[in-house]
Amino acid sequence: MPASSSNDPADAPSGFGTRAVHAGQQPDPSTGAVMTPIYQSSTYAQAAPGEHQGYEYSRVSNPTRTALEGNLASLEGAKHGIAFSSGVAGIDAIVKSLRPGDHIVATDDLYGGTYRLLEEVFEPLNIHTSFVDMSDLDAVDDALTDATQLLWVETPTNPLMRVVDIEALSELGHAYDVTVAVDNTFATPYLQQPLAHGADLVLHSATKYLGGHSDLILGAVCTNSDEWAEKLRFQIKSTGAAPGPMDCFLTLRGTKTLHLRMEQHCDSARRLAQMLNAHEKVGLVRYPGLPSHPGHALAQKQMSDYGGMISFELADDDMDQALAILDAVEIFTLAESLGGVESLIEHPASMTHASIPAEERRKIGLTDSLIRLSVGVETFDDLRDDLDRALLQV
Ligand SMILES: *Cc1c(COP(=O)(O)O)cnc(C)c1O
Repeated sequence: MPASSSNDPADAPSGFGTRAVHAGQQPDPSTGAVMTPIYQSSTYAQAAPGEHQGYEYSRVSNPTRTALEGNLASLEGAKHGIAFSSGVAGIDAIVKSLRPGDHIVATDDLYGGTYRLLEEVFEPLNIHTSFVDMSDLDAVDDALTDATQLLWVETPTNPLMRVVDIEALSELGHAYDVTVAVDNTFATPYLQQPLAHGADLVLHSATKYLGGHSDLILGAVCTNSDEWAEKLRFQIKSTGAAPGPMDCFLTLRGTKTLHLRMEQHCDSARRLAQMLNAHEKVGLVRYPGLPSHPGHALAQKQMSDYGGMISFELADDDMDQALAILDAVEIFTLAESLGGVESLIEHPASMTHASIPAEERRKIGLTDSLIRLSVGVETFDDLRDDLDRALLQV
């Protein structure tokens, strides 16, 4: 079993479902176990000093992790997959590869934890971030400086579901020698493969759709760059941001059904978005699959479907009404996070995006009544009826 998860995409079987089930894995050479075992071991016997089978110490590498990394790399069409203890640990490792004085341009509508990391951890270390609306390429161009080293892209964005052009941003970034990273957590590689659109790094919170069952925390970065892969592995070795073998095993179990789950997430989300769009109690519905969505054409170009995330405002932009709806739903669970088999509902302004100052939230259009849904794989009619009932109650 190789200690490296390096992949040659050209060797991979072509179908996504086949890769989801098999890539990175083979029956265990010592026992024939079809499923990759959970190698719950910190260290590995050496025949003589330095003479080993590719593994020395599990902070550096572990066979269960290697299998997962090969699987994730294959799904993103990447040469390298690198697994982290969380999505945020992956972002942290990327940014830590920069140097004091370096500059980042990031989307202004992004995961709250990324915002906190950039503003409260890296800003004091003199790594400065400018936040801009990345659907406006001129604004991105204006924000780039001689010190810019990284473009941080999310699409669709969270929670406003804006769609930004990965190809155009990659071209712009590369014209200035800037690394382009895309957080692909919302879309997953089943719907969108950023490296194929020119990005250098893809970040995942595998906690969400890749794991798919809300039972683990794990992150990953996929890249074709040998240099970045080496830098990121060095970070894991040096800072200890490694995932445990149990979580690697669970993620590997999750990715096997990613393509099946995503079909259902997309189908139910599209139908729910249409229902909400026609609902008297609902204002703006933000779902890239709706033809009225400003990013619909772009989403059609760079995604194969529109995902399972929806956000919407109420006809009366009223925070109390929004909170009443969260209270009235029965199948949707009030919780942060997303991407699991169960449907979740949340209020970004007071939950996931509370770490973004109110003034900043208002500036980007994150209103007080905005509700975010992660549409699960329950029976569609039950989800529709649950939301409809809750909306009519307020
Ligand atoms: C959850 C999330 C993260 C952070 O991942 P963790 O696994 O929770 O550390 C980053 N980006 C997006 C878009 C997320 O939804």
